[in-house]
Amino acid sequence: MPMKRILVTGGAGFLGSHLCERLIAQGHDVICLDNFFTSQKSNVLHLLDNKNFELIRHDITHPVWLEVDEIYNLACPAAPGHYQYNPIKTMKTSVMGAINTCGMAKRCNAKILQASTSEIYGDPTVHPQPESYRGNVNTLGPRACYDEGKRAAETLFMDYHRRHGIDIRIARIFNTYGPRMHPFDGRVISNFILQALMNQDITLFGDGLQTRSFCYRDDLVEGLMLLMNCDADDKHLPVNLGNEGEFTIKQLAEMTIEMTGSKSAIVYHDLPEDDPMQRKPDLTRAKKLLDWTPAIQFEEGLSKTIEYFRTVDLDEYREPTPNHIMA
Ligand code: NAD
Ligand code: UDP
Repeated sequence: MPMKRILVTGGAGFLGSHLCERLIAQGHDVICLDNFFTSQKSNVLHLLDNKNFELIRHDITHPVWLEVDEIYNLACPAAPGHYQYNPIKTMKTSVMGAINTCGMAKRCNAKILQASTSEIYGDPTVHPQPESYRGNVNTLGPRACYDEGKRAAETLFMDYHRRHGIDIRIARIFNTYGPRMHPFDGRVISNFILQALMNQDITLFGDGLQTRSFCYRDDLVEGLMLLMNCDADDKHLPVNLGNEGEFTIKQLAEMTIEMTGSKSAIVYHDLPEDDPMQRKPDLTRAKKLLDWTPAIQFEEGLSKTIEYFRTVDLDEYREPTPNHIMA
């Protein structure tokens, strides 16, 4: 494979840092751009000495001028606690980030992939969710800054494609987990594992019967790279990436307690507003287009993630940087 210059926005994050590693391993020249809002330099510290890696501290809501062949646009806080922290900034990141990266793709004639999300389906009334489903999003709720920002980004990508002929990919990513998740991101897997390891109460929201389908990060990153390199006629249309295994959140709590040997008790809390009741990807299109299917079963991935969190020094992490003035 010829060496390419590849930009990964949000490249210091949970998924972005693994993507950078994989692309470097393939011999590409990787530029990681990040403002470290929900990540820290330690995620990419091991790459800093690599001659094929460059780190740029930059906020993607501002224009940036780089010469690249491919762009993976991952910059955006992803966990509900993180994206609701400064909702206006979250939407700006999706919208301005899409405009700035698509503009770069147009100028450089680069291929560009958008990290979209299952959240664009909102609280789905169709199950499992195929790409043709148009979603059920509350435009006014606390999740809208993320959901609507990502929907607007998809629109911008498609309009840049139609109007300027840029070569786009749209990956609709379902819940993904694994080592290097931020321990304070408030996502269910990191929360439950840390609570279980510390024998603290497991905070179960609602009755715990809401479902999610969890994909291990290696499978997901593999799917992103396959999509970027796909050459099919309809490669510009959205593709679901995730895992079809569906679990209730209560099942997840019980599995985590059992697998950690924890003494934690499950304690029920109110369900957050607009929390989707069910989520599972229809992967028919991904399997056909990419010949891809997730390889890591949930028990195996959860076990690897538990082992990772056993080693994490929590003093090295902090909550997202307050940045209200920047909105
Ligand atoms: P993450 O929070 O670990 O990574 C996002 C990265 O973007 C962080 O490093 C953060 O500092 C950076 N960032 C945020 N705002 C920025 C800005 N304005 N300018 C520059 N950098 C900025 O989250 P992740 O789980 O790695 O998610 C990566 C992408 O995948 C996101 O776009 C997210 O919406 C999408 N996604 C993730 C999941 C998941 O379950 N992990 C699911 C669906 C979609
Ligand atoms: N959840 C929970 N306890 C927690 C954190 C989350 O019960 O401590 C629930 C949450 O209400 C949701 C599910 O777990 O139903 C997944 O939440 P997460 O924030 O990980 O992702 P998302 O809602 O974006 O899928």
